[in-house]
Amino acid sequence: METLVLKFGGSSVADNEKLKLVAQKIIDLYKKKNKIVVIVSAQGKTTDKLIEEAHSLSKNPDNRELDVLLSTGEQISIAKLSILLNEMGYHSISLTGWQAGIYTNNTNQNAVIEEINAKRINEELEKGKIVIIAGFQGYNEKLDITTLGRGGSDTTAVAIATALKAQKCYIFSDVDGIYTGDPNQIENTKKLSKLTYKEMLEISSEGAKVLHGRCVEIAEKYKIPIITKSTFNENSGTIISDIIEENTIKSVVKKQISRISIIGTGIIRNIEFIKKIMDIITANKLEMLECNISESKISIDFKNEIPNNILALIHDEIH
Ligand code: ASP
Ligand code: MG
Repeated sequence: METLVLKFGGSSVADNEKLKLVAQKIIDLYKKKNKIVVIVSAQGKTTDKLIEEAHSLSKNPDNRELDVLLSTGEQISIAKLSILLNEMGYHSISLTGWQAGIYTNNTNQNAVIEEINAKRINEELEKGKIVIIAGFQGYNEKLDITTLGRGGSDTTAVAIATALKAQKCYIFSDVDGIYTGDPNQIENTKKLSKLTYKEMLEISSEGAKVLHGRCVEIAEKYKIPIITKSTFNENSGTIISDIIEENTIKSVVKKQISRISIIGTGIIRNIEFIKKIMDIITANKLEMLECNISESKISIDFKNEIPNNILALIHDEIH
């Protein structure tokens, strides 16, 4: 008997029709005598809406309470999916993050999974049940709810697969795999049938929004193959594992960054000036990706577009 972990993203569970498709996929795999654990995200754009609602009540919502709110999205998904599976004649049970034993550190909105106690999951699997777990959430030492950062359900899935020593972790979404480039930006992209963990990590960190980066790190560490597939067709997906293929070029990725460069002679010796630039960056909470300082140039890459008033501030520092 194989243990399979299946993760379905928000667009795969967005409404009742889609939930039925998901339920059917789960049943097909269950009937092949597999033990099935399912991780689901919040339906559609639920998480975005919940964040908006919190901000409509407070400019700076309390971090603990924000996690209590955000975790409700996934809780709706697990309950609905389990109600549906039971209705279709299959025994299933929904578990929230803490019921599934997902223990994290205390960093609200960006918590890291430290340990999984899979006792309850295993007990339910032994009873022959399909186990449905809320993605993106866990609990901390105070027994408070935490969330793992946007897109974190992928990480839940791989971490659960690791804890259960599952043979495979399937990530289902509205795309059927990893492509040689973003089909929205480039024509003639092709789907890749396999990738190594290292290649996938590079693709994720260069800005392709396919898999939560941390889930690939965990998969690599514990050697869990990840298979990305579409919920809506039967196409073969992309397998991410340790297979070594030398000299293959896999993907072209464009990252949206914003670079500011300051040019002049002897910049590297002008420590006061460098410090002032860093103060402007800190004061304006700008997120830096990289900073290179050479004899005649400082260039800084930022995650987001830099507004002109910041450029003006830096310019005024120079002149
Ligand atoms: N619902 C959460 C989010 O949108 C987690 C996830 O989808 O993986 O970020
Ligand atoms: Mg989501």
